[in-house]
Amino acid sequence: MIQLYIPLNFLGVIYREIKQALTDLEKMFGLLEREREVADAPGAPELKVGAGAVRFEHVDFAYDPARPILHDVSFEIPPGRTVAVVGASGAGKSTLARLLYRFYDVAGGRITIDGQDIRQCTQASLRRAIGIVPQDTVLFNDTVEYNIAYGRPGASRAEVEAAARQARIHDFIASTPKGYATMVGERGLKLSGGEKQRVAIARTLLKDPPVLIFDEATSALDSANERAIQAELRSAAQGKTALVIAHRLSTVVDAYEIVVLDQGRVVERGAHAELLARNGRYAQMWQLQQAAQDADEPAAV
Ligand code: ADP
Ligand code: MG
Repeated sequence: MIQLYIPLNFLGVIYREIKQALTDLEKMFGLLEREREVADAPGAPELKVGAGAVRFEHVDFAYDPARPILHDVSFEIPPGRTVAVVGASGAGKSTLARLLYRFYDVAGGRITIDGQDIRQCTQASLRRAIGIVPQDTVLFNDTVEYNIAYGRPGASRAEVEAAARQARIHDFIASTPKGYATMVGERGLKLSGGEKQRVAIARTLLKDPPVLIFDEATSALDSANERAIQAELRSAAQGKTALVIAHRLSTVVDAYEIVVLDQGRVVERGAHAELLARNGRYAQMWQLQQAAQDADEPAAV
């Protein structure tokens, strides 16, 4: 009786842990109370990442068939390059990030990594290859250490701390009475948007995957922290294939290419200087942001 009870109880604990982890992950991406959208094809192989070329080919997508969101979106991120996506709120930028991480499947067209359609490989292998800093991070109801090490299970404390320092969250963590053992999330210490964002950045830096997605990854930070962490992110993205969704255009002027999305369509593509010279949508956005920045900062004397 006892012998049978213990393993069953143990399985129950594991089941609850897994269920909680899935719930947290879904919440993290705003998918709570939605049925799982994607499944592995039977016998799906693992994704094999070589150089790490990402391609969006004629991608169409709708959350609700009655309301199309993306229309014929095509662009590519050559291996080791950073491509930025910019555009007004609601243009569909975060949707691109969610599709690449395969929280949903495209309705038309396809997304490939090194020539492999991401629908045809296992989700686990796809997600091992990608590190994502989502726009709104929801942390697991667990310790700070667990939340950072989630990026690379089995990481040592020294590795976790190094990532936390890079993300400029170590000093804050060290200042709490329980340090890295502090519980966070709904049932623990409530972190500000910027602190949560830095934990998510530390997690991704620790994971160090070949493909990176930064979805307005520093939008909740003050400008001094934003500048410092942008430099860390740029160095983390060196040699990686990165999709960077930018809120502040000044953070993506060095991108290999900038894709301008408007109501789910690509309306312009090119390097910063080319887009400025074109004097179109991007140039207009740039001028507006420059003007706003000048108004915010005291004039130079
Ligand atoms: P952006 O990141 O550019 O601000 P999003 O990709 O988040 O834009 O959203 C694009 C459009 O899709 C918006 O109109 C938004 O309301 C809608 N949308 C986003 N997420 C969902 C969802 N889970 N269900 C239904 N509609 C959504
Ligand atoms: Mg967004």
